[in-house]
Amino acid sequence: MRQTDKSEVIVVGAGPSGLACAYTLAKKGIETIVIERGEYPGAKNMFGGIFFSSIMEKLFPSFLDDAPWERFVGKRKFAILSGDSEMAFDTKPEFFNKPPYNHSFIAKRGEMDKWFAKKVEEAGASILTDYCVQDFLYENGKVVGITSGGDDDSFMADCVVCAEGANSILTEKAGLREKIGPERRSIAVKENIRLGQSVIEDRFGLTGRQGAAYEYFGSSVPGLLGNGFIYTNRDSISVGVGFSLSDYLEKKDGKTPNDILEDFKNHPAISPLVRGGETVEYMAHMIPSDGFKHLPELYRDGLLITGDAAGLLNTSFFHEGVNLAMASGIFAAETLAEAHEKSDFTSETLSEYEKKLKNSFVIKDLENCKNFLSFLHDHKAIINDYPALMNDVVVDYFRVSEKPKSVVKKEIFNRVMKNVNITQMAGDMWGAWRNLV
Ligand SMILES: Cc1cc2nc3c(=O)[nH]c(=O)nc-3n(C[C@H](O)[C@H](O)[C@H](O)COP(=O)(O)OP(=O)(O)OC[C@H]3O[C@@H](n4cnc5c(N)ncnc54)[C@H](O)[C@@H]3O)c2cc1C
Repeated sequence: MRQTDKSEVIVVGAGPSGLACAYTLAKKGIETIVIERGEYPGAKNMFGGIFFSSIMEKLFPSFLDDAPWERFVGKRKFAILSGDSEMAFDTKPEFFNKPPYNHSFIAKRGEMDKWFAKKVEEAGASILTDYCVQDFLYENGKVVGITSGGDDDSFMADCVVCAEGANSILTEKAGLREKIGPERRSIAVKENIRLGQSVIEDRFGLTGRQGAAYEYFGSSVPGLLGNGFIYTNRDSISVGVGFSLSDYLEKKDGKTPNDILEDFKNHPAISPLVRGGETVEYMAHMIPSDGFKHLPELYRDGLLITGDAAGLLNTSFFHEGVNLAMASGIFAAETLAEAHEKSDFTSETLSEYEKKLKNSFVIKDLENCKNFLSFLHDHKAIINDYPALMNDVVVDYFRVSEKPKSVVKKEIFNRVMKNVNITQMAGDMWGAWRNLV
């Protein structure tokens, strides 16, 4: 590429936010090029995961019939692991099993991103792969292009959209955010384990394209703020753990993230679900936990930041990322269309982007869970001690013996009183209600 190559908009990153932005721009007839470091869109991408499709379905009303989703989420389970036992709550309302399937689909990012990228190209945008952007190019303080570092290897544009995901080096280099420390990132490792379609359906009680999404709290990631998960693909399952990077670095117990995943897989509640499977893929990825309180600057002259690069991820129980990423990509494109109309890409015009985000569910949801992680971080009893105690209490209550039930109840009561400061627990529960729900 030579310095003379120019496009109206450059989008860095072919994840959901970059592709949604490029698709919307291309549909408006704005010349757009997406630059992706992977060999193909999706090659380097990973998520749990549930693809929340409400935004995607607005772009592609035929999503249900066309997109390469694995299974719809027909069943969700939330479980607490403790020692060698599990206490779980699952939900499978009938509307999960009927179109639009609660807009929740288990998918593989490699396939979903590739499909989406094809639609983007069909809409008229170009996608350049195998190109890692190293920095923005500036003219009088305005971003005017990108470079991969070589003298002769640059690309110019009226505006650049940075959609480079969680490990956002470019926003850091540009001084749009302070240095990202371990307290602002979680790490996730996961395996795809092939089991075969009929084994999955028997083991998880599924029929047809129905899928299951299981999340495990408590000792799934002992002593760390995070959780374990299992999602059923068509003929494999995704099994993984995600946890706070700062907790992990502080804990220093010599366990690697892979050891934590292995321990999770060996828990008596999990091992029967993964038994006999063949690991066909292993992945690791960062998850931003910046949240509402640490949003970066979202725009500058000639530059917009979208998706995970901007920390737009709902890190509460909802784990929503792709729909926020796509919504932000679309808002960026709409803002750019207005800027294009005026031929004005200054930060004043681009500030519309932030207004659109603030008026939408994206920033409203981030604000709603702004204390989620910090509250749990400061009240670890909620994720460790209380669930473990609750589990033990239930186990003791149902333990069969010749002890009179009145004695069992008294022992349980004494055990709770010994292990829990009731005033403290009441305060924690009130705090949990205000900050977590
Ligand atoms: C383990 C895990 C589980 C998750 N589970 C869920 C879930 O169940 N549901 C959900 O909604 N969300 C989930 N998420 C979050 C979700 O994946 C993200 O919020 C979403 O992918 C963000 O999209 P994005 O386009 O902003 O970034 P990404 O999807 O990360 O895409 C960024 C793209 O930019 C490319 N890139 C990066 N740097 C450069 C560069 N310098 N030059 C060129 N290209 C570059 C990357 O290769 C990538 O293709 C999960 C995330 C993880 C890690």
